[in-house]
Parts: sequence; C-alpha cells; structure tokens
Amino acid sequence: MPVATDTLIEAMPTERLKTIANAVIEGKRLSHDDGLYLYHSEHAEAVRQLADYARQRQVGDTVYFATTLYIHPTNLCELSCPMCSYYAKPGWDTAWFLTPEQAEEKVRAHLDRNLTEIHVVGGLWRDCNLDYYQDLFTRIKKLDPRLHIKAMTPVEYDFLAKLHGISVEEVFERMISWGLGSLPGGGAEVLVEEIRKALAPQKITSDEYLAIHRIAHRMGLPSNVTMLFGSVEEPEHLVTHMCRVRELQDDTRGFRTFVPLKYHEENNALGKRKKRLKPKDVNRVFAVSRLMLDNIPNLKVLWNYLGVAEAQELLRWGGNDLSSTNLDEKIIVMAGGLSIKMTKETMSQLITEAGRIPQEVHSGYNGGEAPIC
Ligand code: SF4
Repeated sequence: MPVATDTLIEAMPTERLKTIANAVIEGKRLSHDDGLYLYHSEHAEAVRQLADYARQRQVGDTVYFATTLYIHPTNLCELSCPMCSYYAKPGWDTAWFLTPEQAEEKVRAHLDRNLTEIHVVGGLWRDCNLDYYQDLFTRIKKLDPRLHIKAMTPVEYDFLAKLHGISVEEVFERMISWGLGSLPGGGAEVLVEEIRKALAPQKITSDEYLAIHRIAHRMGLPSNVTMLFGSVEEPEHLVTHMCRVRELQDDTRGFRTFVPLKYHEENNALGKRKKRLKPKDVNRVFAVSRLMLDNIPNLKVLWNYLGVAEAQELLRWGGNDLSSTNLDEKIIVMAGGLSIKMTKETMSQLITEAGRIPQEVHSGYNGGEAPIC
C-alpha cells in the first residue's frame, strides 16, 4: 500500500529531509547536493521510506525477474583492467574460448528451462569479431526466434568498430540484422574520469561510453546501465555518475534499468591493494539511486553479487527487479559472487515473501515495456 504523503512528510526527522520529501512527492528533480545529503544522512530509515515511496509511485509493487542463460564467448582479453577478475591471457590455465557451435550446444541444452533471454558478454578478443557474432546470433535465433539477445558492453562495440574499421552505428546495424535486441549495460564502472582511470585505465572514456549508449538508443536499442560501487570512489562520484546517466536519459529515454554492482575484491589487482578500498553502505546506494534516477523505471538487485537475504531486503530500498536465475553466469562468480542454483519458483517465493508481486519478464516479446536485465 502506498504510504500517505502527509504521513511520509511527518516521518522525516529533519527540515532538509522534509523538503526533499516534498520534492519527491511533487515529482521534482533532486539535485546533486540532495543526493549527497541523502547518502550521508544519519536517518537511514527515513531515506529508506523515501526510496520505497518513490519506487511504489514510479513502478508499483511488481518485481521483475528473468530466466537468463549467459554465453561468455571468451575470457581472453587484450586489456587487463585492475578491477577485473574475469580476464585471462593466452596460455593461462583459466582461459577459454567457445566456438559458435559450442555456444549453440549450450543454448540447446538449456532450451527446456523456459529461457527468456541470452546474455552475451566476454573479453576484447579479435577472434570474437563480427563474423563470430553473426554466426553466434544466427544460430541462437535459429534455435528459437523468440529468444531475446542482450549483448555486450559499449567497450566491446568500440573494439569491434575499430577492429573492422567501421563506425559503431554500422556495428549496431549489422548486429541488429542478426538478432541483437538490447544492451545489458556493463562496463560503466564509475562515470567520473579520475575514478574510471583507477579502475580501468585502458577502457574508453566516460564520454565515449555514454555516446555509444546514445547511438544505441537512437537506433532503437534499449539498454541498461551499471554503476560499480565500493572500490576507490567517494559518494560524490556515485552521485555524479547518477546525474550523468539521468542527463542522457532525459534526451533519449533509452535506459530501462539501473544496475548498481557491488565491487568484489577477489581475484583482481585492485583488490590486492586493500588499503585503497572504500566500501559503501549498500542499502544507501540503492536508495539514493532510486531517488536520483527519477527517469529510469527499474532498479535491479543482483542477488548473486549481494547475497539472497540482502537482495530481498533491497526490495525495500527502491529495488523492483530481482535480476534472473542466472544460468551459467561467470563474471560475478569469478569475482567471488554466489553460484547457487536459483529456480523460477524460488525467485517468485522470495518476491512474495517480501510482500511484492513477482512477474517473469520475457524481454524480447512482450511489447518491449518490461525491463531488460
Ligand atoms: S573488464 Fe572487460 S575489458 Fe577489462 S580486462 Fe576485464 S574483460 Fe577485459
């Protein structure tokens, strides 16, 4: 049940929180300063109530989830980002490369699991070129044309464009003709250059990252966008990240879901330099995200990054999307995330226990209104 607005304002323990509550109720945009104030406020429960109110008003009580099969074509990568636990170099025991035939077999083996989408993401590797993706996507669509293909990060699209000497537009054009449906939103890290350089110095810049989302949106490809928190950034960098995403969304309306990713320090170079790390209050990051991102409907909670109980709790802090059953996901697992078997039934149960309404998402074929993961 939505909380009454006068009750909400009364529950705010400071004048500033009352002013912010009024703005939220009236649908007014919160400033960067408001975001920081909410982040640092000692009144966590008041911030939670505000985020829960905003969530209820923006998207109601439904919580989405999908049944996603992950295809990671390779973990070989030309870059070596300090925050990454996933990449390998030729000759490493941990390296793999999946041919399109092998990937097809994997999809075929999971077809009886009522898959709703295939999430493709991997390293920057020249054997994974446009011919590779044409073959891969065509095979997936042949198996079941209804499968939604959600693939790759702007970093990978930039790599492909340079590899083939064509524009990013042309890369998208070809990928769309082979079945690409959306972008999952990875690789954003923190869209503040000084932090991005510490996390992934060889990656495209924040401006370039956002410019590729802009192109995708213009060409009719919806996308999600992530935010990596809890490494070397300060709260103001996270709020700046949210403001930059919100600004682009004002122009394009192409983002469906905001995905805060908790940094995991296992198996990566940055994690070894523990003294530099600045862990964040996870609940607060989600609440501030919900309140600042007034133009992005969905806030995704990745239970495999955060733990199942914490994920359930985050549905009270602005979350409205419990991600997916995550079949064969590797990036999070390699960074120390959970690798438990999650069924559709368990997902529904978790959502119902949290007092909300579960809805499975069929990203590619339900009118395009539901969120993507
Ligand atoms: S984050 Fe992506 S680009 Fe960077 S090393 Fe890992 S796989 Fe490669």
